[in-house]
Amino acid sequence: MGEYPSNMSTPYGFATRAIHAGQDPDPTTGAVNVPIYATSTYAQDGVGGLREGFEYSRTGNPTRRALETCLASLERGRYGRAFSSGMGATDAALRTFLKPGDHVVIPNDAYGGTFRLIDKVFSQWGVTHSPAPVTDVDAIRAAVRPETKLIWIETPTNPLLNIGDIAAIASVAHESGAKLVVDNTFASPALQTPLELGADVVLHSTTKYVGGHSDVVGGALITSDEEVDAAFGFLQNGAGAVPGPFDAYLTLRGIKTLELRMEKHSDNAELVAEALTRHPRVKKVIYPGLESHPGHAVAAKQMRRFGGMVSFVVDGGEEAALEVCARTKLFTLAESLGGVESLIEHPGRMTHASTAGSMLEVPADLIRVSVGIESGDDLVADLLAALG
Ligand SMILES: *Cc1c(COP(=O)(O)O)cnc(C)c1O
Repeated sequence: MGEYPSNMSTPYGFATRAIHAGQDPDPTTGAVNVPIYATSTYAQDGVGGLREGFEYSRTGNPTRRALETCLASLERGRYGRAFSSGMGATDAALRTFLKPGDHVVIPNDAYGGTFRLIDKVFSQWGVTHSPAPVTDVDAIRAAVRPETKLIWIETPTNPLLNIGDIAAIASVAHESGAKLVVDNTFASPALQTPLELGADVVLHSTTKYVGGHSDVVGGALITSDEEVDAAFGFLQNGAGAVPGPFDAYLTLRGIKTLELRMEKHSDNAELVAEALTRHPRVKKVIYPGLESHPGHAVAAKQMRRFGGMVSFVVDGGEEAALEVCARTKLFTLAESLGGVESLIEHPGRMTHASTAGSMLEVPADLIRVSVGIESGDDLVADLLAALG
């Protein structure tokens, strides 16, 4: 189930695939949208006589399958698997590639939940890990050991927006017989397609840009390797971290506008980054689209645009940063990212509080914004007013 080789060679553009891949009109009713198949089980035509291969909704569901087909197509992969959260997908990927005694190289600024799962859970089962900066291919190569089975990266990273060279890191992984998983949550497939750059697996928290409306939690794994996909499918069914059909429907509905949204997120983030750069109270602006960003050239090579996340450092330390976060009116003070509405947060006290004292600790005067798709001028004015 779930193989759509035509995804690899379809001539259709991204926005066409977002709206149509896996989403043909319903053959019985003509419904233009994929129905929400709210069913746990399926009638069989005689014992083992499955219609369309569906037998139980942990194993497979038509709404979920439409989402999986669409995600595979968007990432230019052959197979997609949807999970109940990004962490559910992360857990399935780690369990597929790592056994007791194996080793994984992770970014030294990995998503906190990914680091926590590896450091607190997988370590108990004899899996070891080494952090390396995602920006430094030589450091990643030096971290690889004979027992390294997996290199795990994110790019851009959270919240410092570091950029890793996906093609170069894929070569390092493959030289040593390891696999490369790319967490593509921050870029989304509209801006970056890691499988085309040599990655073995793409992971998403579809909670963020893919769903895009802050109304559903989900995750996904996409690959073109049949055996790897079969292992993901085994864990999807065997461990059971699957999304319900309504979650799958909401995510599919979000995907239809993914390209449009990412264009507007990128437009607005560029405006915000430029305005912040000119503000006297802002000491540093971190946005891969700025030429001052150390990863700009690599980002320009592998991303179509630079996305909606901007981080910046204000004068006056932690207290000043907290004040700015409290003063915006349009930017809502909240964790998460990637929705249509703009959000602001203080990583040191919020999303990254658990990293205090560790190598993942973030600067206390750092602010992160998820720039939404409201009117760009309003967003700039809101931030400038909050800065005073
Ligand atoms: C949010 C996030 C995750 C985890 O996804 P959930 O859907 O929250 O479980 C993983 N990676 C990145 C980069 C994220 O931003």
